[in-house]
Amino acid sequence: KLETSRIVSLIETNLEPDLVTMLRFLGIVGNQIGMATYVVGGFVRDLLLGRKNYDIDIVVEGDARYFAQTFGRYFEVTCVEHKEFLTTSIFFKNGLRIDVATARTEYYEEPAVLPNVEMSTIKKDLYRRDFSINAMAIKLNQEEFGLLLDFFGCKRDLEKGVIRTLYPLSFVEDPTRILRAIRFEQRFNFRIEEHTLELLKKYVAQNYLERVTGQRLRDELEKIIEEPEPIKAIKRMDELGVLNHLFPHSLVDAETLSMLKRYFNRKRSSSPKPVYILAMILLRESSPEKLDSIVKRYGFPKKFPDWIRKAMSISRELKKIIVKGEQLSYRIFFETVRKPEPEILWFIDAFLDEENSKKFQNYLQKLEKEKPKITGSILIDKFGLKEGKEIKKILDKLQLAKLEGLPDDEEESFVRRLLGRD
Ligand code: ATP
Repeated sequence: KLETSRIVSLIETNLEPDLVTMLRFLGIVGNQIGMATYVVGGFVRDLLLGRKNYDIDIVVEGDARYFAQTFGRYFEVTCVEHKEFLTTSIFFKNGLRIDVATARTEYYEEPAVLPNVEMSTIKKDLYRRDFSINAMAIKLNQEEFGLLLDFFGCKRDLEKGVIRTLYPLSFVEDPTRILRAIRFEQRFNFRIEEHTLELLKKYVAQNYLERVTGQRLRDELEKIIEEPEPIKAIKRMDELGVLNHLFPHSLVDAETLSMLKRYFNRKRSSSPKPVYILAMILLRESSPEKLDSIVKRYGFPKKFPDWIRKAMSISRELKKIIVKGEQLSYRIFFETVRKPEPEILWFIDAFLDEENSKKFQNYLQKLEKEKPKITGSILIDKFGLKEGKEIKKILDKLQLAKLEGLPDDEEESFVRRLLGRD
């Protein structure tokens, strides 16, 4: 009872009033149709941690679709059913979404395939979850609103800061939990409990990650990269041997770490998918055959090996120049990188230290801004040139001159001089 009133007061003080009303209303709907109704998982974990979380996962002991339909009679919402998982999503006009699931146990016909689903009770539903910190529920029904369900010492783990699986075969049933363990550990600054860690290492070594589809691994990896401190998690993945099972022959040396740091610390608003850049950095020394198998496994773009090849050759070129003690100028960037594809651009940027990265970004901006007014067709129409290589050469020289400060009104005389027509 004491616990329940504490939870109610946490809900009422920490959550927006609308959200509190919504939770209470969900419980009332449950009462109306005689279904035990709970909010579960990450929402409960974050409530107890005092963190914001707007992912509302509801579990009912009964038909989730019927619950959602009943709920929908009172609000203007759209319900979308996912039959195979016994879940229904309720979408509100303002963007809020509530997922309702029928309490279930999943049993696995073979490891690492999507689960079969059968109806169950809340306790079994919670037991099949990934870690104890994610396996609590709060009852929402009217007379028991705020009752915390903690069957497996979950709250204690949360207080101690421990990531623990609920049963020994957890990682076998779903090896993506290996990545989830690392993600939660790093996000909350928790530690993976000793026995769980042993199992994790054991199944990593026994190639359980290899049994999962590339897409599911990639989804989890992308979530790790989106966390505020991805480097910590990447280091941890390396330490636990996970990285090498995701990307065989990853190169993790001082240069890798400094490239990753630079990449993740710099502005990435215009960056392409970070998972591509991460993989490019880790696999920058890999052979074309190895890269091809990565492309297949993760559904990376076909150009991926080519990006690496080009990015590496440009980086080596730039390195030579830097080692010689020469300054990186507009001319050097123009001659070595020209206008790279975004993936190559971000790789090169990560390769450069702070000062040179600024110069590089500067160059790229200038390249956008200082487009020559004279175009290929002007060269043909006005200067009488024939289509072909010469035009490209002249346009390049003109572009470089623009980068180096040639004003618009001097373009014509510049081209005349190039053509020896002064
Ligand atoms: P986040 O804060 O990153 O959204 P979350 O805990 O809400 O974390 P979700 O991936 O949204 O994570 O999953 C919601 C809940 O579903 C989890 O709290 C957990 O109870 C359960 N869950 C998710 N993925 C798995 C899994 N692979 N195995 C078992 N349970 C899972």
